[in-house]
Amino acid sequence: MRNRYSAWQLFGASRSAHEDWAPAWHEADPKPRYDVIVIGGGGHGLATAYYLAKNHGVGNVAVIEKGWLGGGNTGRNTTVVRSNYLFPESARLYNFSVNLFEGLARELNFNIMFSQRGVITLAHSRHDLDSVSRWANAMRFNGIDAEILDARQLRELAPRLNFEPLARFPLLGGFIQRRGGTARHDAVAWAYARAASALGVDIIQNTAVTGFMMKGGSVVGVKTVQAGIPGEIRAEKVGVAVSGHSSQLAAMAGFRLPIMSYGLQAMVSEPIKPVLDTVIVSPAVGTYWSQSDKGEVVIGGSLDHFPSFAQRGSFAVTQQVLSATVEMFPSFGRLRLLRQWAGVVDVVHDSSPIIGPTPVSGLYFNCGWGTGGFKSIPVGGWTLAHVLATGRNHELAEPFQLDRFRTGRLIDEAAAAGIAH
Ligand SMILES: Cc1cc2nc3c(=O)[nH]c(=O)nc-3n(C[C@H](O)[C@H](O)[C@H](O)COP(=O)(O)OP(=O)(O)OC[C@H]3O[C@@H](n4cnc5c(N)ncnc54)[C@H](O)[C@@H]3O)c2cc1C
Repeated sequence: MRNRYSAWQLFGASRSAHEDWAPAWHEADPKPRYDVIVIGGGGHGLATAYYLAKNHGVGNVAVIEKGWLGGGNTGRNTTVVRSNYLFPESARLYNFSVNLFEGLARELNFNIMFSQRGVITLAHSRHDLDSVSRWANAMRFNGIDAEILDARQLRELAPRLNFEPLARFPLLGGFIQRRGGTARHDAVAWAYARAASALGVDIIQNTAVTGFMMKGGSVVGVKTVQAGIPGEIRAEKVGVAVSGHSSQLAAMAGFRLPIMSYGLQAMVSEPIKPVLDTVIVSPAVGTYWSQSDKGEVVIGGSLDHFPSFAQRGSFAVTQQVLSATVEMFPSFGRLRLLRQWAGVVDVVHDSSPIIGPTPVSGLYFNCGWGTGGFKSIPVGGWTLAHVLATGRNHELAEPFQLDRFRTGRLIDEAAAAGIAH
């Protein structure tokens, strides 16, 4: 890899006041033809390009992004990484991703700030206690770490929660996945972009795909617009990883996906000293919290429940999320909100992704990650690259095919994926 980052390089660069750093990736002009085009310069698209080059030796690849790298949901999420899903198919998929996350900084030579600080799910009632113990035990059956917590253990891990006996949502316990945590979201996109570019992948920003070129039912290229100028780029294999815009791209190719797009928002407080060193999720109030390395309390909630492509959240959900925050962490009531933003997420009826071929030959989609696809960037890229390079589904992706909506073999992860993280 060019420009290997190291402590020595950092030291050397300090002598020129850090003004001589080479760009992390090469910004390419589109060539007329590629072996594979990947649409979408979010984490999934960039990881796909990297694994195409690294795992399969396919280097004549372009990533086409209509805006800037990571400017979609990859740079807008709340950075939670976990594999606490219920069904064996999902457990395998998401745990493969957590395993890749563990080695990613070293492999990509980029500090993605992966911090395995644990993800705690709260139980507020005896019924919640029953369901978290079923959930944790299902995880253990699938070989994934989970520890059930009583109220005393919970208090040791998160003393700022509201343990008042008369709290609206009493805290009776919960469970923790200690291998879960957070990673810096845009660093993941930049790390894959840099590594893919070093392997010869062309990264093309500010270029929207506006249609597909077809011949006899197969894709043979894409139509683009760059700086207002229409263009065409040929490739006989095209991978699509555009998250909340998946149904629009499918419509361009002439088929429909079982996907609804919704706004999903998050917010951060002003930065404060360390007060929360784990991720806390309350399914009862539909809200979750962590603290960033900069000190901001990161707060996420549930979907805005009306379909939309607008990249903004509604005040109603903001109010609900903040009232839940003050209920759970009374001391956070004194914090000022610094920023609020939203992304557009692609939600499937069974809350599980779609990774594989489509009705159009040569065209493959990676989508439907909904509110939880940051954690799956490594595995999403790995499995999409596999099917693009070999024409066969990766075994991890086999259960997540589009045809499950015809066969009825759904993998309903709404309980584990229901909150947005
Ligand atoms: C507020 C919020 C909080 C979240 N929290 C978490 C979390 O804590 N943990 C977690 O695992 N997941 C979380 N998610 C979900 C996660 O962010 C997404 O599932 C994931 O980022 C999807 O990555 P992607 O690469 O598929 O999509 P994106 O990052 O959205 O990238 C898709 C790219 O495609 C581009 N594109 C779209 N149309 C075109 C076109 N026609 N031509 C060219 N390019 C196009 C877009 O500009 C975009 O950059 C959250 C999402 C949001 C919005």
